[in-house]
Amino acid sequence: MTFLSFGLSQGLVKGTEAAGFTTPFPIQEQAIPAVLKGQDVLGIAQTGSGKTAAFALPVLELLLRKTTSRNRYVAALVLVPTRELAVQVEETFRALSAYLPQKLKTMAVYGGVSINPQMMKLSGTDVLIATPGRLLDLVNHNAVKLSEVKILVLDEADKMLNLGFKEEMDQLFALLPKKRQNLLFSATLGGDVATIVETQLHNPVTIQV
Ligand code: AMP
Repeated sequence: MTFLSFGLSQGLVKGTEAAGFTTPFPIQEQAIPAVLKGQDVLGIAQTGSGKTAAFALPVLELLLRKTTSRNRYVAALVLVPTRELAVQVEETFRALSAYLPQKLKTMAVYGGVSINPQMMKLSGTDVLIATPGRLLDLVNHNAVKLSEVKILVLDEADKMLNLGFKEEMDQLFALLPKKRQNLLFSATLGGDVATIVETQLHNPVTIQV
C-alpha cells in the first residue's frame, strides 16, 4: 500500500514524500478511502497514530476536486481542543499541501492571543483550524461564516469535551449546514463523545487502531 494507490493528486503524494512518509499507517489506510468516498468517519485513535494526515490528505483532495472557499466562507473546519494542537495540525496541512499547483489557504485560530490580526488574515481561508471559543468569537465578529462548510473534523473530541467546550461546540454545530461530511477522532468513546457521534455523524465508518 502506498499513498499513490489512494488516487490522491500528485502534489499531495509529493507532500507525503517530502514529509518522509513512505507507507501509510493503519488509520490512514482505512480513513483515506472512506473520506474520499464522502463517508462520515469515526476514528478511535491516539496521538501518534498518524490521525492528522489521515484526515488532512483526503480533506485536501476533496477540496481540490470540488470546492473553493469564497471570502469569509470556509469549506473545511477542523475543531481542536488547544492552541498547541491547532498549530501542529496547521503545520501538517501546510506541509502536505506545499506541492499543490492550486494553492489552498490553511489558517489556525485560537484564543490567548489578540483577535484582530486573525480577523484580518481570515479572508479566503479554505481550511480553518480552530479552538471552539475563539471560533465563536470570530463568528460573532462576522469574520468567518460557517454556513458553507462541506467537511467538519473534530480532532481529539474527548479532550475538547474534557476541557469544557461542550456548549461552544453545540453552538457551532447549530451554525453549520445540515448536509456536510463529518470526521470525528477521539482516543475514547464515552459519554458526551457518544452523544456527538449520535447527533452529528451519519452512518459513520468506524476505525479503531
Ligand atoms: P499524529 O498522530 O497525526 O500526531 O502523527 C504522529 C507522527 O507520525 C507525526 O510526527 C507524523 O509526522 C508522523 N506520521 C504520520 N503518518 C506517517 C507515515 N505514514 N509515515 C511516517 N510518519 C508518519
